[in-house]
Amino acid sequence: MDLAPPPERGIFCNRTLNLRAIEAVGYDMDYTLVHYRVEAWERHAYEHLRRRLASLGWPVEGLRFDPELMVRGLIIDLELGNIVKANRFGYVKLASHGTRTLSFEEVRRVYALTPTDLATGRFAFINTFFSLSEICMYAQLVDLLDEGEISGISSYAELAQRVRQTLDEAHWEGQMKAEILADPERFIELDPDTPLALLDQLRAGKKLMLITNSEWGYARSIMEYAFNPFLPKGMRWRDLFELVVVSARKPSFFSAQNPIFRLVDEQGWWEPVPGPLPQSGIYLGGNAATIEQYLGLSGDRILYVGDHIFVDVNVSKKLLQWRTALVLRELEHEVRESSAASKQQRELDERMSLKEALERELCQLRLLEQRRRHRYGPVIDLDEAEIASRSAELRGEIQQLDERISPLARRVGQLCSERWGPLMRTGRDKSHLARQVERYADIYTSRVSNFLFRSPFVYFQSPRGSLPHDPLSG
Ligand code: 5GP
Ligand code: MG
Repeated sequence: MDLAPPPERGIFCNRTLNLRAIEAVGYDMDYTLVHYRVEAWERHAYEHLRRRLASLGWPVEGLRFDPELMVRGLIIDLELGNIVKANRFGYVKLASHGTRTLSFEEVRRVYALTPTDLATGRFAFINTFFSLSEICMYAQLVDLLDEGEISGISSYAELAQRVRQTLDEAHWEGQMKAEILADPERFIELDPDTPLALLDQLRAGKKLMLITNSEWGYARSIMEYAFNPFLPKGMRWRDLFELVVVSARKPSFFSAQNPIFRLVDEQGWWEPVPGPLPQSGIYLGGNAATIEQYLGLSGDRILYVGDHIFVDVNVSKKLLQWRTALVLRELEHEVRESSAASKQQRELDERMSLKEALERELCQLRLLEQRRRHRYGPVIDLDEAEIASRSAELRGEIQQLDERISPLARRVGQLCSERWGPLMRTGRDKSHLARQVERYADIYTSRVSNFLFRSPFVYFQSPRGSLPHDPLSG
């Protein structure tokens, strides 16, 4: 394997992490060790959701899943039925009401004084690919609710709750997953390098764990399909793991004392484990404290790798100080698109700094005119007419610049998604999602097999980072 990965397959570091010092690595399964074809999975989930709503009498016959409509990292405003994209401070920069995109003025009118605050019940963050079907349906139903097509629902929050509950039932009921297992090729994007990356870590002396919310029957079949063909002869996926925990019920797995059961036979016979874990093996439920006790390790020796920004990295870090790695598959597309647009980005940056310089001069002239009119401050050798004429000149130049800046800004603002732009940026600023990644994920990368480029012995060093007052380079 080439030692230098393509830029989009890098492992990016927020907080210095020495992989040598990590003694146990826990992995989430869905969208972490196993990647699904998002559009196929979500279309499938959406259809289950739609059929369930139709059977309850909802007018959803004509609705179709639209993969372009929503992306991860958006926030639902449950009070107003809006879906918004916020910057790192929580200020909303883009929004739609249902499926209708709101204009710049509308966004400003509604949100100038209302930053999104995830600690309040009003806003819900879209953490995972599994939410795309739900949020697409929600936006379409907001449209129908506004048109008076849905009865018995009194608020946008209640509507969201009904959609959530219905999708939840579809996940639980089993049919949806049975169909996935019946046709794994259609839904799973295999990565033959992932098992090798884990095997490297195992042979380097690390204890590996699989901790998934998926249930045993599903997890077993998925892991067999995605791992067994790519392991050395005679080795099975479960030989990689010291502990496998299914139906883990994250995030409460990291905080509560959920009971734990051990698999005693392959048909799915579980026995309760009242005290410490007796041995390596396959478990159901339980909690992180029991795992730490079994491993004899504290949080800073354990790395947890997952794709869910809240469940996998936020909670495990906040409550247990586990080291964290976030898997963000969208990065691959995002990095490729950004480098394809780098010429436009450079031109935009140049024109923006030119515009800033012109605006600075214009502001100075305005101040000079104010002082001249009120007769105070240092004497200047410009009269009223000269100030006015230079100001008009500057305004003309700024307008000309704007004519070029607008389409460029639109182009880079629509990278990756025409509606929502790139995942990690909101305009020139970091996105709300980027801020979450920075705070909770020590490292982040597009897929687990990227560890192959860095080995189990790597020292991830965080970059120095930039601050607004840093001297300009070059
Ligand atoms: P993990 O990412 O922890 O490996 O597993 C995620 C599991 O949660 C998958 O089995 C997935 O089907 C399930 N899941 C995702 N979204 C929902 C949901 O809305 N409701 C329920 N009940 N399960 C979900
Ligand atoms: Mg997952």
